[in-house]
Amino acid sequence: MSRSQELFARAQAVLPGGVNSPVRAFRAVGGTPFFVARAEGARLTDVDGKTYLDYVCSWGPLILGHAHPAVLGAIQAAAANGWSYGAPCELEVQLAELVRGRMPSVELVRFVNSGTEATMAAVRLARAATKRDLLLKFEGCYHGHADGFLVKAGSGVATLGLPDSPGVPAPVAGLTATVPFNDTTAVEDLFRRRGPELAAVIVEPYMGNAGFIAPEPNFHATLRSLCDRHGALLIFDEVMTGFRVAAGGAQERLKIRADLTTLGKIIGGGMPVGAYGGRADLMRLIAPEGPVYQAGTLSGNPVAMAAGLVTLRETARPGFYETLERRTARLVAGIGDAARRRGVPTATGHAGSMWGLYFAPGPVRNFGQAKGADTALFARWHRAALARGVFLAPSAFEAGFVSSAHTDADIDFTIAQLDAALGEARAR
Ligand SMILES: *Cc1c(COP(=O)(O)O)cnc(C)c1O
Repeated sequence: MSRSQELFARAQAVLPGGVNSPVRAFRAVGGTPFFVARAEGARLTDVDGKTYLDYVCSWGPLILGHAHPAVLGAIQAAAANGWSYGAPCELEVQLAELVRGRMPSVELVRFVNSGTEATMAAVRLARAATKRDLLLKFEGCYHGHADGFLVKAGSGVATLGLPDSPGVPAPVAGLTATVPFNDTTAVEDLFRRRGPELAAVIVEPYMGNAGFIAPEPNFHATLRSLCDRHGALLIFDEVMTGFRVAAGGAQERLKIRADLTTLGKIIGGGMPVGAYGGRADLMRLIAPEGPVYQAGTLSGNPVAMAAGLVTLRETARPGFYETLERRTARLVAGIGDAARRRGVPTATGHAGSMWGLYFAPGPVRNFGQAKGADTALFARWHRAALARGVFLAPSAFEAGFVSSAHTDADIDFTIAQLDAALGEARAR
């Protein structure tokens, strides 16, 4: 028995499924998860001493790779000054200013501790501002695990093929309407029928929790104009895309101004941080300026703020996003070409350094089509890739990430290993 297997057995006795977040348990791909001993740059090393090139990057936050020296230094320096104050500190102001500079629609911002907290609060604010209750989300989009979002949700819910979660009261789920992503006709239809009830439309601008799905031209412009016409708010959930697909997030890439934006992942540089922000007139409704309540004992934590601040500053170096996107495009093209040579129908996509692949003929434009992909082939491919030292997200319904620590040589190595792994996956 390997040390990872031993630890997983112990973990299952004390943690549900042996993990603290479901997809980590590898249920969708088989086998047992490896336990990490340490990580540096683009690589993870497990407790048995095996090293993996990492395309999960902590599920998105680590755009600089693991243990980046500048971030490590900032964390150490911040911690040396004490790591939680319960009182304001300058780092919160600096990070807020940096976020607003990068995302002009975020006129005011509130820091929280996770993406889930950010989306929960943004929806509460939207409901308070519009005095309406209905929320529209898209099938396969994931906005964290709060009750109202676990309706046709992506991420682990999609990976495990779960129905909408037990424990969510039907009246709460009933306040969430869903339509397919990229389906402007369905959105128009919903607005026609229920426009006066709609508080907000929440959307992952590029879907990343059902695999990677890009928006079609005009999809977001249609959402923007329908929201404006019907007095609903547009919430861009940029927890994943924020500072990932461009310096100013998806809203910069798509040239759409959201009313509210939710952030997480990269904004904390790998520490537990989330944020929501947007139009000042809306954000001034948040306590203590307004009546909409939201609070956090550890919110604005100085160590987390320092990690986020340095991470974002590093991404501001000239050419940072261009280099990352070029490497990601090469990776995705390399895998796609290899699959085609082997006669495996494959649909690939990327935006910035966020990417995905389905074993399906494509194009994949919504979650319904994504579910038609060959998940059994994906599972075998994942296991073969892992054995060859490449760690992909253990689910056919998750995006992958390239960090600035991934070199061109790493990309070449990955293409070769994933090609060989696909050969092995098909032979079985
Ligand atoms: C990860 C993610 C969340 C949830 O963030 P947590 O920090 O896991 O709570 C919400 N929305 C999107 C788009 C995400 O990718």
